[in-house]
Amino acid sequence: MAKKAMRARKPKHVYRFGGGKAEGKKEMKNLLGGKGANLAEMASLGVPVPAGFTITTEVCTHFMRRKGKYPPGLREAVAKAMAGVEKVMGMRFGDPENPLLVSCRSGARQSMPGMMETVLNIGLTSATIPGLIKKTNNPRFTWDAYRRLITMYSDVVMEKAAGVEPKEGQGIRHQLERELNKMKGARGVEQDTELTADDLAELCEIYKAKVKKVLGKPFPDDAQAQLWGGIGAVFQSWNGRRAISYRRIEGIPDQWGTANNVQAMVFGNMGDSSATGVAFTRNPATGEDKFYGEWLPNAQGEDVVAGIRTPNPLNEGTRAEGSTLPSLEQAMPRAYKQLVAIRNRLERHYRDMQDLEFTVQDGKLWLLQTRVGKRNGPAAVRMAVEMRQQRLITLETAIERVRPEQLDELLHPIVDPEAEKATTPFCKGLPAGPGGAFGKVVFTAAEAVAWHERGEQVILVREETNPEDVEGMRAAEAILTARGGMTSHAALVCRGWGKCCIVGAGGIEVDFARKLFTAGGVTVREGEVVTLNGTKGLVYQGKLPMIVSSEENPHFVAFLKLCDRVRRLGVRANADTPEDAARALEFGAEGIGLFRTEHMFYGKGSQKPLFKLRKMILSDSVEERRAALDELFPHVKADMKATMAVMDGKPVTIRLLDPPLHEFVPNNPAERAKRAKALGITVGDIAKRADALHESNPMMGHRGVRLGITYPEVSEMQIRAVLEAAAELNLEGKKALPEIMIPVLCDENELKHQAELVQRIHAQVCEKFAVRKVPHLVGPMIEIPRACLLANEIAETAEFFSFGTNDLTQMSFGFSRDDIGGFLPAYIEGGILPADPFNILDQKGVGQLVEIGIQRGRSTQPKLKVGICGEHGGEPSSVAFCQKVGMTYVSCSPFRVPIARLAAAQAAIAEKA
Ligand code: PEP
Ligand code: MG
Repeated sequence: MAKKAMRARKPKHVYRFGGGKAEGKKEMKNLLGGKGANLAEMASLGVPVPAGFTITTEVCTHFMRRKGKYPPGLREAVAKAMAGVEKVMGMRFGDPENPLLVSCRSGARQSMPGMMETVLNIGLTSATIPGLIKKTNNPRFTWDAYRRLITMYSDVVMEKAAGVEPKEGQGIRHQLERELNKMKGARGVEQDTELTADDLAELCEIYKAKVKKVLGKPFPDDAQAQLWGGIGAVFQSWNGRRAISYRRIEGIPDQWGTANNVQAMVFGNMGDSSATGVAFTRNPATGEDKFYGEWLPNAQGEDVVAGIRTPNPLNEGTRAEGSTLPSLEQAMPRAYKQLVAIRNRLERHYRDMQDLEFTVQDGKLWLLQTRVGKRNGPAAVRMAVEMRQQRLITLETAIERVRPEQLDELLHPIVDPEAEKATTPFCKGLPAGPGGAFGKVVFTAAEAVAWHERGEQVILVREETNPEDVEGMRAAEAILTARGGMTSHAALVCRGWGKCCIVGAGGIEVDFARKLFTAGGVTVREGEVVTLNGTKGLVYQGKLPMIVSSEENPHFVAFLKLCDRVRRLGVRANADTPEDAARALEFGAEGIGLFRTEHMFYGKGSQKPLFKLRKMILSDSVEERRAALDELFPHVKADMKATMAVMDGKPVTIRLLDPPLHEFVPNNPAERAKRAKALGITVGDIAKRADALHESNPMMGHRGVRLGITYPEVSEMQIRAVLEAAAELNLEGKKALPEIMIPVLCDENELKHQAELVQRIHAQVCEKFAVRKVPHLVGPMIEIPRACLLANEIAETAEFFSFGTNDLTQMSFGFSRDDIGGFLPAYIEGGILPADPFNILDQKGVGQLVEIGIQRGRSTQPKLKVGICGEHGGEPSSVAFCQKVGMTYVSCSPFRVPIARLAAAQAAIAEKA
């Protein structure tokens, strides 16, 4: 009994799969990694998967903690599982007559494409090589497999995992590649495939001698030694440099560890009836419901992903324009048909787009991997909409399938088609990551990072990218590679990030030494600007204008309509011009949550009103000020009216003048002289009046409602402008719904004071326009902690609340909004704060004030309308918080409105769940 109980508690380290059965399943990703869990699932579904076993992520964490030691019993469990694989595959590992070869592959619970290591063809030794030659009757293939094993093993196991750090270009892989090239040169051939079996056998001997010389140890000639070398190196690669930096970028915890999949090898390079490929159940770049992929005849999987050969199209339906290579559908119709059936089965089973790896060995199809395929934003949206139409997923799942930040990609610029028509591309490649981008050309990942840190926009140009380039790829606006297909490293990584990317631009010749590339007769040097159209794969010299593409995308519109069906939170926009208002409406805004009056005094067309505002500010008496305000009035009214006209029938929250007045005082002498003349005073007087406005701490000074208290005539003018504009619009047959918002308020008496002004002016406006009333609301902006605490009193007068979380964050933290650059980076890097609180709402601290404000406000007025108009209103996690605390709406910049609509929908689903 006791013995039995002890055995039951022993953790299971190895899970087998193959022969139509498996010990694991797809839900076991944490333990078996994504790859292992899905191999098990496929095996159970009866999909042809080469037999194998998965060593768990727990073994990896043990291995890391115990500095390379395995848990007790692992060797026995592996031996037992290997015996199982031998039985299913009908071959034996290390057997001289009928040798089984295996691969060792990493597989974490979240995919980390190319960031960890793989060793293939394990089990080839001087004892098994003759057996394999006899069995396959293919000495060339055997020696080629051996050559690849020596290369991978010496690189991954004997160099990287052993911590050897060779100089640039001196790694063992490079050295062996040089031997290969030497041999090709000596034989007068160009392609690897032109080398004979004897050439390759000789090359293997050269390789082994080189390995021994460079690394000081012989390449192991024993199957078991190779197996355990491979297993150890795969675990070790969890802590490789690339894997660590990828984890930092993606936020993957170090303690997850990787699983380790040992699996029978099948070969796509056994001749013309063999092939290997990668496929997606739908197009991962566009989302189109077409089986999409790439394959290579007579090749190993790494050949497709490495981008060394340009791959063939999977089928006729997805053949790229101008491609003449045979598709799998044409070349191997039986295997293709079987693959289509598996595609349908797997997509129905997983109810999501799958990314498949397959191999055809001597006409027999094998699946090596399935996983949920990475996709860019446009593809995610299209798939969500169409899979729901096809009843593959529910409304809620469709909404959850798109990350809010992925919508950003649809809102990202594309190259203006008109500008494109007027010029010609000098280079063409495969459209691996849509959208447009421009930037200065750099040729190394390190330079991309350095230039980016200097504030430059760069385009990273490479022959092909590899996982070592990942940080530079991140820093670049876009990637352009000379080689590789749609499933190459660059394409996969960029798709995951939604980055503009062009691969396989065959016409490019990169000269790294001279830091330039040439294509189509054009030479582009480091630092010169190019523009990429990643949707079409076109490259232009110089900078082309960009436009935003989303409105024309029917799936985007349909997707956001789905979101609107489940969301409870309203979504408004912060907008202060008719153009912004129109854009906000296009993006689905249901009103304006913040119209900043002062914006009319900046930028285009602001000269006249600014001149008059300055006159008002520098006035010395109420009379002077009133005269200046009278001059300003028509500008303010026209400005407000234009935006309210666009928003016809939707609420527009107009905030009274907020910033401290000194911001508008002219500083340069010429301006001051002009102002003095206009006011009929001396330049000296102007200087005196400007000095009088100077404040030591203007953010907490004479601003917002305080201006309206000290100069009620300033508020009056604005209120009159709002109400007259609204009255006129209503008489013109439009529907104006202004909400007058009082900023920087800390006490109910401030609101009462301003509300009385509104009441008085409203009566005058009604009389002037002979109307009974001009519909409007009056409410405070809640952006000072005291206003949150006294919200119950403020709600006595308020007709709505709007949280200004920019200032509320500033006032709660005591961090100046304008001066955080000096210390916030250190706070974030040092882990003192988790994120920039001006970007992501600090729910822990500022959030409490918001919650208190809402609760106390609603204790007075249970149905009080509450919104947010700080920058947080368009940040997904903050939107979820707004939902949780019961806000009525969020308001954000027009470009973030779609993101807020999705975030609000996801928050509503999460709340229900
Ligand atoms: C705020 O403070 O949150 C706000 C929206 O106003 P502003 O950024 O104009 O101060
Ligand atoms: Mg503010």
